[in-house]
Amino acid sequence: MKPVFVVDPSKCIGCMACVAACSIENAIPFTLSKSDPVGWPHTLWTRTWVKWIENEDPAPSRTFMPYLCLHCQDTPCERVCPTGATFKTPEGVILVDHSKCIGCGYCIVACPYGSRYKVKEGAFEKAIHDAMLHDVSKKLRGAGLEDYIMKPPSENKWAVAERAVDKCTLCYHRKEAGAWIPACVEVCPTKARMFGDLDDPHDPAAELVRTGKARHLRPDLGTGGLVYYVIP
Ligand code: SF4
Ligand code: SF4
Repeated sequence: MKPVFVVDPSKCIGCMACVAACSIENAIPFTLSKSDPVGWPHTLWTRTWVKWIENEDPAPSRTFMPYLCLHCQDTPCERVCPTGATFKTPEGVILVDHSKCIGCGYCIVACPYGSRYKVKEGAFEKAIHDAMLHDVSKKLRGAGLEDYIMKPPSENKWAVAERAVDKCTLCYHRKEAGAWIPACVEVCPTKARMFGDLDDPHDPAAELVRTGKARHLRPDLGTGGLVYYVIP
């Protein structure tokens, strides 16, 4: 299989279901944003995110731009990693072996797309403390999500780890479990995110790449990658 991920920003409605699904899937704790008057839980970090862009011309409007690690094939983060913690799978997915990561942060600096972040020591404890303080559990209980504040899904060996650098894995643990579709793709209601197989002649995501409708975001940087964008 040759995995391919296609983002179509024109279809994104900014619902943030993808960010929530990713955070739950990968055990990223919820906390509260002090600046949010509504008080709905936010995630501390994100492996995937959606930028809200305010437009003024010709009339006030808002557009949305989903982001994630682009899984570069000429890979700046992998090149600078001194311990081999960052590596490429046979399918071209870029992963971080948290047990080998020493948290030096070279890869964070080397990534031209801002796709990486470091999880500080004590971050989980603080998140749980904040969640309790603000009673996030109660807010999440109705949605059946509160367990994820306390307990990472044990079957995901690529879930977030303290003191290590982290980023999107294309939900590689789901491939290892035998059903590979990233959580963000699964929940996206508008198909702004698509996942497919370049080896499959009937795959709709692969078709967008084959026909040139989906392209690399910054071809000038020469990183290539498994992630493509539908750019008008
Ligand atoms: Fe590495 Fe950044 Fe490329 Fe992802 S987008 S593979 S983190 S350089
Ligand atoms: Fe956009 Fe889809 Fe994410 Fe909603 S789930 S914010 S539509 S990419």
